Amino acid sequence: MDFAFDERTERLRAELTEFLTEHVYPAEPVYAEQVANAADPWDAPPVLAELKAEARRRGLWNLFLPDERFGAGLGNLAYAPLAELTGRSPALAPEALNCSAPDTGNMELLAEFGTPEQRSQWLEPLLEGEIRSAFCMTEPEVASSDATNIATRIERDGDHYVINGRKWFSSGAMSPRCAVFIVMGKTDPDAERHRQQSMVLVPRDTPGVHVRRGLTVFGYTDGPHGGHAEIEFRDVRVPVANVLGGEGEGFAIAQARLGPGRIHHCMRLVGMAERALELMCRRVTERVAFGRPLAEQGVIGEWIAESRVRIEQARLLVLKTAWLMDTVGNRGAHTEIQAIKIATPAMAEWVIDKAIQAHGGAGVSQDFPLAMLWAQARMLRIADGPDEVHRMSLARRELRRYRN
Ligand SMILES: Cc1cc2nc3c(=O)[nH]c(=O)nc-3n(C[C@H](O)[C@H](O)[C@H](O)COP(=O)(O)OP(=O)(O)OC[C@H]3O[C@@H](n4cnc5c(N)ncnc54)[C@H](O)[C@@H]3O)c2cc1C
Repeated sequence: MDFAFDERTERLRAELTEFLTEHVYPAEPVYAEQVANAADPWDAPPVLAELKAEARRRGLWNLFLPDERFGAGLGNLAYAPLAELTGRSPALAPEALNCSAPDTGNMELLAEFGTPEQRSQWLEPLLEGEIRSAFCMTEPEVASSDATNIATRIERDGDHYVINGRKWFSSGAMSPRCAVFIVMGKTDPDAERHRQQSMVLVPRDTPGVHVRRGLTVFGYTDGPHGGHAEIEFRDVRVPVANVLGGEGEGFAIAQARLGPGRIHHCMRLVGMAERALELMCRRVTERVAFGRPLAEQGVIGEWIAESRVRIEQARLLVLKTAWLMDTVGNRGAHTEIQAIKIATPAMAEWVIDKAIQAHGGAGVSQDFPLAMLWAQARMLRIADGPDEVHRMSLARRELRRYRN
């Protein structure tokens, strides 16, 4: 077993660390000011475009895509420490590198299942960072953690599909730059349970698409990243050529999309926890209460030690999962993907919570990134599958080994 990264990964790590130090962290207050004074609360502030140009100039672009035809050609194991670094500044770094959800998952789908026409129309501008995209699966009316519940209808009418339904939490869709939605719905409600669903590409400007409102996450709009939209699809007509992967393939494609998406979140969560621990250590070394630096209060030392232990545990499991995905494929890594999706958000939530506590009032304020980091970690115990659903499925697979 070798715990060292290869030469290319180490080089990219050093380059990315330099980019973060020289450009991203100094841009955080600029970003906050531009967001506060933005004319359009759903559009990215100018500093993000500047960071994108600089990242691209440095070759730090589309690192997430293992397919060499489209991206950097890095495996999951090589991408893990890079995504972790971007998690240290989650509002800026992932998008600066064109490596932010949900576009990454949507690009992966188009790369894997898109026709040449679909790729040239949507994948190419996404890879260039010119447009954004949304993934519309979850619905307000049904328990969407069970994807077979999805009720949106996609009915064939000659050479077109007609779409009717309501979606919510479509991340990114409030952005004026979000040009295309990947919509999941039922094409054949009478088919076998996992063959009823299909995915279709819906250009944002199609008549009948109504973006109704942005939903908040613990009060955050996530506006500069395009928010989380509620969208109504009323008699929306798109050509049958817009189906992704084929009719009845929607469920299988959704599973394919969620594997890499989940591990990317976990990689970034390790970085979020590292940033929180660093902030905690700096703060408690500087501040004095009751005659001693906070760092010398026993309970704070315990938080710091426990944080280091939990981060290392989670990172190792994330790296093992990445290695498995590279070597035996996403299916072979199913149990580990679920394990990290359960363990990593909870780990990050715990570490960030302690960092907030150690900062006192400052920890919950806008002067530190901790409140935003906590909201992200907490949210990820629900998004991309709630903890309980992953536990149920993992237990089922574990128990299967004991049934004859
Ligand atoms: C910030 C954010 C961004 C998101 N982005 C997107 C996006 O871009 N596209 C998209 O389609 N969706 C997105 N989602 C939606 C997300 O994937 C869903 O919220 C999630 O899958 C849960 O579905 P639900 O909200 O319908 O909860 P429900 O299915 O109603 O479940 C509610 C709760 O019930 C419990 N539960 C469910 N099943 C079980 C079980 N078997 N055992 C025990 N308990 C159970 C869980 O605690 C769960 O949280 C996003 C969500 C958030 C919060």
